[in-house]
Amino acid sequence: MRIQSATEPGATGHPNEDFAAFATPTEAGGGALVVLDGVTAPAGDSGCEHGVAWFSARLGGALLTAIGATPSVPLTECLAHSITRTADAHRASCDLSHRRTPQATVVCVRWNAQSVEYLVLSDSILLIRESTGVVRAVLDDRLDQLRPAARRLPPDQRVAFVEGARNAPGGFFTAAADPSVATLAVTGSLPRERVHTVAALTDGLGRWVETFTLGDWPELLTALAERGPAAMIAEVRAAESADPEGEAHPRGKTHDDATGVIVGLAG
Ligand SMILES: [Zn+2]
Repeated sequence: MRIQSATEPGATGHPNEDFAAFATPTEAGGGALVVLDGVTAPAGDSGCEHGVAWFSARLGGALLTAIGATPSVPLTECLAHSITRTADAHRASCDLSHRRTPQATVVCVRWNAQSVEYLVLSDSILLIRESTGVVRAVLDDRLDQLRPAARRLPPDQRVAFVEGARNAPGGFFTAAADPSVATLAVTGSLPRERVHTVAALTDGLGRWVETFTLGDWPELLTALAERGPAAMIAEVRAAESADPEGEAHPRGKTHDDATGVIVGLAG
């Protein structure tokens, strides 16, 4: 089994709010992978004294522990448990009912000799190359589905529209302080022998496809395997630096935290 990973903050002087970790437990052929993208809060009060990077590390660590230590518990239940455990860590000091309480997107994968299970919540990305060569991108596209309606609004109302849909009925969902959100994740399972490679990435690296259209998802997965995640993050950074104001490639911020982990499961 070969695992490659890289992560890079979007801005110097600001903590990297992405989180990535993997484990290779003693169970024969087993392992687990967790990638989170902490949602950067707008300037101002979030009701939390800890911050988004703290939250991502806490939630990600709890999730990796849960999915590795309780292999028979479904990933949705592991995520719900980890959200509760993380909320308990700052419930006494922070206002977890605050609309901008720290929150994160989630991708996690657990494999053993028989199967590969996965979970995706919000707009981080899971890519799976099957043994046939077919690549599937597992996406929770609720946020993308809101964008056409947002674009029909006057520009000064778009951010408020999207923010109003955050963790609201009919909107999109992130892992914050409410464990019930775990049931809304996109989940699935494949026989282990059908899976050649899996890769989890945050949208900062997903920009290679979604913002700069340097290729499609299968091409990105091939490039990640052949050249490694650090090289692909560097390509995104170069594309961002060539269009610093976002004139050719509109985006929320010039650079974003970017993370990729790729696991070769064949052989
Ligand atoms: Zn807090």
